[in-house]
Amino acid sequence: MGRSFETTLGVLGGIIGVIAGVAVALVGGIGEAFLLIAGASDLYTRAALTISAAVLGVVAALLSGSRNKFSGISMMIAAVLGLVGAGVFYVPASALLGIAGAVAFVRKPELEAHISAKCPNCGAPLESSARFCVACDSPVPA
Ligand SMILES: [Zn+2]
Repeated sequence: MGRSFETTLGVLGGIIGVIAGVAVALVGGIGEAFLLIAGASDLYTRAALTISAAVLGVVAALLSGSRNKFSGISMMIAAVLGLVGAGVFYVPASALLGIAGAVAFVRKPELEAHISAKCPNCGAPLESSARFCVACDSPVPA
């Protein structure tokens, strides 16, 4: 099964989102170490939210193709939640997840194409590239 455009984009967005979450945690860690940022521990909460959102984005992206609506909505939720967690750090990830989510949401299921690939003579399922039916040897029209 080949990976679709939105799956690749969504997984990429999720990975960048995880990096953004780690960056937020580092900012928190540095702030705490130098006592420059009051409430640095709050940044850990935001980092955790960001990484959770990014992981959701990756999982949702992998579900696209079979569950497009669910996958698309989940990727869009991941795009927004990560922004809440990491702000500007998450903008690239949010853009990728948002686009991937929108594409997945409007994508039609691919099942119909597979169902229609049947032998016109005996009804046996066919591979898309097959020229002859493996069950009854009758030629398959292109
Ligand atoms: Zn056949």
